[in-house]
Amino acid sequence: MESHADQRLRHLYTGDSVWYIARTARDRSPGIEEANADQALIEHLFLSEVRGGAAYAQHPVSIRATRVLDGRTEVFLDKCAIGTRGKRYDFAEEALCRLLPFGVDDGELAGVCGLRVSHIDSRGIHLRLVQAPAAHLTLVGPTAAHWKQLVAEHHKAVSAAGSTPLWDRQRYGEAEHAFHARHPKFGEHEAGMSLLTSGILRRIGMWHTTSNAFCTRYWQAGHQTMVWELRHLYGTRPAHDEFAALFRKPLWGPPLVVLKQHCDCHSRRPDAGGRPHPDFERQCTFEFHHQDRPGVLEIRFRTGRPRNDDEPEVRADLEAAGADPAWLGRVLPRRKILVPAG
Ligand SMILES: [Zn+2]
Repeated sequence: MESHADQRLRHLYTGDSVWYIARTARDRSPGIEEANADQALIEHLFLSEVRGGAAYAQHPVSIRATRVLDGRTEVFLDKCAIGTRGKRYDFAEEALCRLLPFGVDDGELAGVCGLRVSHIDSRGIHLRLVQAPAAHLTLVGPTAAHWKQLVAEHHKAVSAAGSTPLWDRQRYGEAEHAFHARHPKFGEHEAGMSLLTSGILRRIGMWHTTSNAFCTRYWQAGHQTMVWELRHLYGTRPAHDEFAALFRKPLWGPPLVVLKQHCDCHSRRPDAGGRPHPDFERQCTFEFHHQDRPGVLEIRFRTGRPRNDDEPEVRADLEAAGADPAWLGRVLPRRKILVPAG
């Protein structure tokens, strides 16, 4: 059974609702379990392909929470995201377009090789992997009817473009076989990184509950590194020590250790006149890794030049996406800054 302190930690790490966590605390032991190899692979492929940090949304990277259940993991998606020039789009639709595989007529593969829609029910859309039979990921957000509509529309659009939808087949399609022939190390590289990425997905709440960044992006750099870039407002303290502490917490943190760290915080302060330094641009960088496995997580805590010209737009986008006002007050406090000349 989980204590109140454990329940608070579960909320901090997973982003899951306090109500659900309290209601189910009796049936659970503290801590976040590590995925098996099949499950880690689908979680890795999901997070690395969905690229939710490309836009502003209600939560960093458009994911509110994850919930690890017996035999599957649920991922709670934000309803919408705000792209360039304030364009609003359905994040579930965006996720399907990025994830579901189809063969383009020149033999190229789009989407995640081997990903399949197993079924849609009142919980959400259930995804499986041909190459990892025990893998099971459920995307939660839209109603079953809306998921069905999104999949049908995507099927229609892909077919109309002369491409072949593969997400409803039992076996690999032609484009997937060709992809494997072209990238023979695909499975090996993905398997190497997958536990690290899955560990991050299972703790997706941290970017919302702990980070002080108003903008969060991530990408894979090569086969062994995942980079997370956090942008902070000038004057807002990056929470890197809190992150490092969460990563070291037994039972709860991902089993990672600090490989390298560079801290620029001493030069984040303004000068004696209260003005920020004119060439202000700071980055503290932390690298975490598994002691006995490949894969590096690099977190860049960045603070840009002090200016307030684009802040109102960022704030408007986040508000339009439904971001929590208390969180906005923390990551984008309203202020007036003195912008140095030149
Ligand atoms: Zn620092």
